[in-house]
Amino acid sequence: MVSHLIDEVLALDAGGLTRSLTFDEQKRIRAIILSHRHFDHVKDLLPLGIAIRNSGVTVDIYAIQDTADFIKSKLLDGSLFPDFLSSPSVENPVFRVHVVEFKKEFQVLGYTAMAVPVPHAVPAAGFQISSDDTKLFYTGDTGRGVADIWPYVSPDVLLSEVTFGNEMEETADHVGHLTPALLKEVLEKFKSQHNYTPRVIIAHMNPPWEDKIRQELKELTKETGIEFQVADADTVIDL
Ligand SMILES: [Zn+2]
Ligand SMILES: [Zn+2]
Repeated sequence: MVSHLIDEVLALDAGGLTRSLTFDEQKRIRAIILSHRHFDHVKDLLPLGIAIRNSGVTVDIYAIQDTADFIKSKLLDGSLFPDFLSSPSVENPVFRVHVVEFKKEFQVLGYTAMAVPVPHAVPAAGFQISSDDTKLFYTGDTGRGVADIWPYVSPDVLLSEVTFGNEMEETADHVGHLTPALLKEVLEKFKSQHNYTPRVIIAHMNPPWEDKIRQELKELTKETGIEFQVADADTVIDL
């Protein structure tokens, strides 16, 4: 289940918000960036909506068209829960959905953000989020083709998925995920593009593969000197 929280107010994906955050922490969230429509990335919109619906706060959701269409028509259509897009009132709903374009910067809570396309089983975006002094790139779910967008982003911190162990490379390529070996390739391409290696935080490890991935990342550190910080629970990142 995937969520990461930046400076306590901006969530990247909504897969684990209500599991990992206290009620007070949930009430502090002001915006959510969604990478794609898969359930493990959007499911907590519903319990979060329930939790905050009487707090008078509107949370702004940013997503590419495919993701926005999906959550509006399938998840937030009012059939499972109250219609969070028009209640408690049309002027101040629980959620307001904003569609973002690829490679076009937008402002969210004082950060500058930009979506870029990444290869995955469904239309998906990675996001660069910049504060005054730090740039983060969140891959969302992606295959090795994420390297194609390195010319467009230049993060200090890379928050990357690694879903499978190395022996699953064929599957990873098929569905659009990374293994430690594919991450190595992606980081090499980053370095040849930018001449530096960002700080790397790893997330989205598939539970059955977690031990194997940790082991393979350790070997990768020995081989490359790159340290990998594993996001144990849902990460809180300060920008
Ligand atoms: Zn996915
Ligand atoms: Zn996922």
